[in-house]
Amino acid sequence: MSNHLPPRRTVPVRAWLLSVTGLVVVASLVMWHAQLVDLIGFDTSADKQPVVASGPGGSPPPVVEVSKSTPPPGKPSKTPTRSPKPTKTPTKTPTRSSSGYSEEDIDGLSPKLRTRLRKAITAAKADGVRISITSARRSVAKQNRLLREAIVKYGSYKAATRWVLPPEQSAHVQGKAVDIGPQTAMVWLNKNGWRYGVCRRYDNEPWHFEALTTPGKRCPARESHAVAKAD
Ligand SMILES: [Zn+2]
Repeated sequence: MSNHLPPRRTVPVRAWLLSVTGLVVVASLVMWHAQLVDLIGFDTSADKQPVVASGPGGSPPPVVEVSKSTPPPGKPSKTPTRSPKPTKTPTKTPTRSSSGYSEEDIDGLSPKLRTRLRKAITAAKADGVRISITSARRSVAKQNRLLREAIVKYGSYKAATRWVLPPEQSAHVQGKAVDIGPQTAMVWLNKNGWRYGVCRRYDNEPWHFEALTTPGKRCPARESHAVAKAD
């Protein structure tokens, strides 16, 4: 009977088709997972984490949706599904300012303040005092964050700006201010900074210094605190 042949063939074909389908599913799962890991890794450094919400538990959602919910900053790529590279394109770490220097990096400061500060640090060292930089040049994003935190802490914009100016007015964002520590370093630089043209500016911030005078000349009178200019 010719009836015997068709069923025998159908079964292996089905099995073959099933295994191929399975391979495709597994392969796409692996790719999706890799993409997800990549996105999560990127988002962690960018202070965002919405991707995690999609969860790998259930059936794999289309990758396109994931990438749509978290558009990569900078260049928009039309094919994020295939190549995870576009999401890695930004070369600047978020902790670094637009100048490319980290906040504690003295090299991010303006040449004038940087040169003067280096001399002061050397002189302090000779006196047995170590000056460490707690905050030099800041990114606009960091300054904005500090301001938001200060508004919460001090209760109003006006009170907050006695401590943290908005980015467009901040000497830190321009690389023209430096915060130092520890206490002994603040005391030393407040006493000797004028020799290098570096001065403490505010009464309420013993750690904050700027290049406010000609080296060897007296520092200008201190201001009680920062004041934000009205827009
Ligand atoms: Zn400061």
